[in-house]
Amino acid sequence: MNSIPGGPLTRSAAPGRGVAGPAAPEPETSATVSGSLAAALRRSAQVERQVGEEPRRFRVLTGDRPTGDLHLGHYFGTLRNRVRLQDAGAELFVLIADYQVLTDRDAAGAIGGHVLSLVLDYLATGVDPARSVIFAHSAVPELNQLLLPFLSLVTEGELRRNPTVKDEIARLPSGGAPPRTPRGMPDGRAGVPGMPRQASVNGLMLTYPVHQAADILACKGNLVPVGQDQLPHVEVTRLVARRFNDRYPGAGGAPVFPEPDALLSEAPLLLGTDGGKMSKSRGNAIALRATADETARLVRGAKTDALRHISYDPAGRPEVSSLVLLAALCLDRDPAAVAAEIGGGGAALLKRTVTEAVNERLAPVRARRAELAADPGYAMRVLRDGCARARSAAAATLEEARDAMGMRY
Ligand code: ATP
Ligand code: MG
Repeated sequence: MNSIPGGPLTRSAAPGRGVAGPAAPEPETSATVSGSLAAALRRSAQVERQVGEEPRRFRVLTGDRPTGDLHLGHYFGTLRNRVRLQDAGAELFVLIADYQVLTDRDAAGAIGGHVLSLVLDYLATGVDPARSVIFAHSAVPELNQLLLPFLSLVTEGELRRNPTVKDEIARLPSGGAPPRTPRGMPDGRAGVPGMPRQASVNGLMLTYPVHQAADILACKGNLVPVGQDQLPHVEVTRLVARRFNDRYPGAGGAPVFPEPDALLSEAPLLLGTDGGKMSKSRGNAIALRATADETARLVRGAKTDALRHISYDPAGRPEVSSLVLLAALCLDRDPAAVAAEIGGGGAALLKRTVTEAVNERLAPVRARRAELAADPGYAMRVLRDGCARARSAAAATLEEARDAMGMRY
């Protein structure tokens, strides 16, 4: 872990009673981004030590959008951490963020299938439904009720400055070129024909980080294992918790909500086959459930660069380094050593190494997934049970929040 001095993860107004007034927008610089990441990595290392000492103090809340199959970015970015925390004795809540699919889609489409596919991915990677809770947004209305007071605690400016939301808006289909299908993009993302990108940003797109705050805080999660893209959202959650506690003290003045910490893995941003963030929505992902042959094909098509000698240099050679990292993660080895071994073997040997390492690493996960999928009712039973358990946790929190706000009738 290096020690670059870090700043806040996102620029947030000072905590205080009420929402702070408008702050002058600051330009996002790579120095602030890397400084923020360094600070988050340092904090993660501290939290990691606390988890080692007292795992039962932690309630973990994390989740994924059911927009497609989970991929290697999820596996190394967050799934492994979730299972490790569960196995260490922390309480684990896994959210399937179905409402959040609507941020950039014009319809829920095949959402039911995606939701059950995520449940299978979780179970196959080691989430144990006897100890942990898997649930969906739409099944927990109490959670969604917390969104209303929470929305009053952030300013529009703060929402608009969120760097991850800005990036997602930049990837919305532009109205300049008409969407390729009448309903939107081929992957189901919404596009409003003839409307410029900014004008087609819907309210949910801007406010979903606050919805995520409701997810985490409804379950009183105090630890959130996530990839780098989620750091600004965890910061919004901390801000909401702080402002709520300040404005509405709980019984005896005690804070109603914890201020959760983000936990980053050693792969907080895994790149996909095109060199951009590996993402379900970008068509650049290697899914956990992909077959060995599909994996080989996807890795063969991955972007590399013109230099023959393979080295590990994430800043200078992001695409090659991401492939090296993938092999190293799968092999539990040091990426620089893996790169040195491939050396003059070039991109062809690198890709062969990655394919073999991924297929070997995922073979047991894929086998387990196929076994679980053979009982079509099982994933649904796990989900229903998880929704009921999440509902009772969220109902208790909502009661406390209402009490603090003086809404007792
Ligand atoms: P979508 O494209 O639909 O937004 P996604 O691939 O970004 O999908 P999410 O459901 O948004 O996946 O993210 C779920 C979790 O996985 C988050 O904690 C996120 O940080 C993490 N994650 C997603 N992609 C990566 C990646 N490439 N590297 C590391 N972590 C990732
Ligand atoms: Mg995402």
